[in-house]
Amino acid sequence: MPISLTCRSCGETYSAPDSAAGRQLPCPICGTENRVPATSVHTTDLTNPERDSLRTVGHGLGLVMLSIAIYVVSVMYIMLVMFTQSFFLLDTLFVVTGLVGFVVPILHMVGMGLCLVVPTRSKAKGMVTTAFVLQLLATLITILTTIAAINRPFQNDPQPFTMIAGLMIIAGLVLFVLFLARTAEFIDRPKISSRAMMSMYLAIATFVLLFLTGMLGAAIGEVALLFGLIPLVVGIIALLRYVGSISQLRSAIREVA
Ligand SMILES: [Zn+2]
Repeated sequence: MPISLTCRSCGETYSAPDSAAGRQLPCPICGTENRVPATSVHTTDLTNPERDSLRTVGHGLGLVMLSIAIYVVSVMYIMLVMFTQSFFLLDTLFVVTGLVGFVVPILHMVGMGLCLVVPTRSKAKGMVTTAFVLQLLATLITILTTIAAINRPFQNDPQPFTMIAGLMIIAGLVLFVLFLARTAEFIDRPKISSRAMMSMYLAIATFVLLFLTGMLGAAIGEVALLFGLIPLVVGIIALLRYVGSISQLRSAIREVA
């Protein structure tokens, strides 16, 4: 089904093939490059197998949300224990760090794995597949470096590997957000798509701000600690937007599939 678009310069309406979705296409009248909107289907056009796979994606998104919730609660608990310095609670930290280190990534990965069945027509499959592979590799690297560190403490320096794993996780998250945005556009929910993209921009802003306050800290010392609150707040807003877009996409899928 060709996509129709209106030229932003001369107002001429023309149509583009499906294959041009998301790309720039010149207007036949004035030549202005216009962005062809990503393909969205009228949700009544969804085939039954597509509805089935979208429902599976919905379950996957639920697991991803659960993993994030466990992560946030665990981190808050760890901060509480650190803050109160309670020796009684200190013993429970092993359980909580185990949750953060193993249960959260595995749950997150299974959730992403369920999203792999996203309909091909959405053009989101490649993104979530790459995101899944990156997260799988990062988890393997983390497990291997942990085992190596336990076997030969003080001998090896796993830092380059943890850095590679970290970069893989970040790249995987970016691709997962793009997957969320594409899937939202596929089921005709552009607002959810832009909410997901906004979470990514805010996350990038958080890293930039962290870097800047780090430099500031080196320059002016402890006063910079106050500025450290800015990236923290932006980071929290980014996380809320991210979880919000996942949750909205999940309910939108429930409506259409
Ligand atoms: Zn034009």
